[in-house]
Amino acid sequence: MHVCARCIFNLTLIVMMFIIGNSSYLNAAISLSSWHLRLLTNTDDLSILNHYHDQSVSTDLNFTPSSSHSIVRGNVSGVTNSNNKVIMLGFDDGWKGQITFAKPILDKYGFKASFFVVCDYVNSGGIRRMNWQDIATLQKDGMDIESHTMTHADLNGLKQDRLDYEVGGSKQCLASHGYNSTIFAYPYNSGSNDPDVVTTVGKYYDIGRSGTAPLMFLNCIGFKKSQQSDCRTYGPDGELNYATRYTARSLSFDIVEIKYSFDDNKVFSDFVEIVNSQSAYNLGGKINAVPLIIFHNVDLTTNRPYYTNAELFDQLMKYLYENHFKVLTYRQLGYNPQTNTFYLKDIS
Ligand SMILES: [Zn+2]
Repeated sequence: MHVCARCIFNLTLIVMMFIIGNSSYLNAAISLSSWHLRLLTNTDDLSILNHYHDQSVSTDLNFTPSSSHSIVRGNVSGVTNSNNKVIMLGFDDGWKGQITFAKPILDKYGFKASFFVVCDYVNSGGIRRMNWQDIATLQKDGMDIESHTMTHADLNGLKQDRLDYEVGGSKQCLASHGYNSTIFAYPYNSGSNDPDVVTTVGKYYDIGRSGTAPLMFLNCIGFKKSQQSDCRTYGPDGELNYATRYTARSLSFDIVEIKYSFDDNKVFSDFVEIVNSQSAYNLGGKINAVPLIIFHNVDLTTNRPYYTNAELFDQLMKYLYENHFKVLTYRQLGYNPQTNTFYLKDIS
């Protein structure tokens, strides 16, 4: 008898959701919000569409996407050896789907990730967002909780008191709930080229995260957009550098999904290309290039910007698992102010 794998997958997730009393998937048909549209028109985001294909990347892509889709079930075990490739996984904006759909998949493969939350979204009580109990569950299970402002404001051009509220206030908000956030993510990747914003981020956090690059070079050398020789905040001309401790460069994977119009095979292939592109730069066992990948919502939706289909997400995580990637949280990104370079912490 033929068994529809997608049907089993969807049915399993639906049953899971009802078990935990969550109906967030019912809200999946809500129209695009303005921030989606803004992100879609962000020139920095758009420039990435051609950026990473310019780079020389390794060609160890001898894989084929699995034809049989896996379903969410118990933990996978037995694969522990590493291929010496690394990746950091992050989730922005505190969507409910991150705990309903993404976390069980992360758990299945034993992966930990960072969740960049917006305090007012958590406080909102909206069923589409995670609440503080959800956040507590994430941390209890080894996930990393980090800051993404109070209200998801565009920081560019804000007055200093508003900057302090969004940037410092969100750190304080998280601290009041027991989370010590040391990493800040800029909404819309905006403000990370504004000295006032960057200075404010530096007042409260060890590291800032912006877009938009498929690989973060830990010594900040190698970005096509930049000729810098290390990660110091300002270059010799007194201008902000492109990659600094306050502007670690990540990639919103949603850009890839949009680029390929949600064609799962093409999106999967590009994911594999991105995560393997580090090989060209990590020679001799030394890790210098790390893909810092960001997701937004994860649920049963298909063909919707800033929503990653849960079944596709499972396939991406399965690829990382089967190919022995070390999956890190953003908290494992350290910075050495003596050498002005990043390094990776606590990796075995
Ligand atoms: Zn965001």
